[in-house]
Amino acid sequence: MSTGTLYIVSTPIGNLEDITMRALRILSEVDLIAAEDTRKTSILLNHYTIKKPLTSYFEHNEQVKTGWLVSQLKEGKNIALVSEAGTPTISDPGFRIVAAAIAESIPVVPLPGVCAAIAALSASGLAVHRFAFEGFLPPKSGKRKNLLKKIAGEERTLIFYESPYRIQAAIADMLEVLGDRRAVVARELTKLHEEFIYGTLSVLADKLGSSVIKGEFTVVVEGCPAKRSMTISNGAARHAPGR
Ligand code: SAM
Repeated sequence: MSTGTLYIVSTPIGNLEDITMRALRILSEVDLIAAEDTRKTSILLNHYTIKKPLTSYFEHNEQVKTGWLVSQLKEGKNIALVSEAGTPTISDPGFRIVAAAIAESIPVVPLPGVCAAIAALSASGLAVHRFAFEGFLPPKSGKRKNLLKKIAGEERTLIFYESPYRIQAAIADMLEVLGDRRAVVARELTKLHEEFIYGTLSVLADKLGSSVIKGEFTVVVEGCPAKRSMTISNGAARHAPGR
């Protein structure tokens, strides 16, 4: 008996139109959808009148549920993995099932689509040719600053996810540790109240103020300026004669 396929399906991060035709086809063809948030996924499926069995697969049952999902794949079932929003496995559950499927020689097929980090980067106006995705910073300031100190010399553009409850504190720590670099806050991407706040970290701190602002936040910060200008001037010198 041939095994099934595990599809990694990207879903919208707000605007329900942000889903590929291939993703909709696969979601309507698979035997089972493993969803981080079955309620959110049901909204998406209802919107596109797709009826499929759902099973929950999230941070707290990932470990125990992986074995069962692999057994279903081995029995020939095709499974789509979706997260609450965006690309599964990117600061979201899914790594375990992907690794387990690969270990069992089960085909893993990604269906690319929305990712908040890439959407924010693409509209940031900051250098995009090289970037480092840092995901969520530690929630406590001490650990957050330590992590920021470790990456302060990173010359690639930095991308962070942040919660509405910590956005101001995180920007303040970035300003303190990284210096007043250019940065962009992307809030509520693809949604009704989508907003980009451009400036330097001190300008962003000012604009964000101190009261809780609702929404989802992705922060893009320019890489270490000293190192970056060295790279640019070296590169310019290297390329100058031929251009
Ligand atoms: N897997 C998702 C992806 O591909 O973007 C990311 C999941 S992670 C648990 C959720 C975080 O992504 C949010 O806390 C926020 O930092 C960022 N994010 C998700 N949706 C967003 C949006 N519409 N606008 C800005 N940031 C968003």
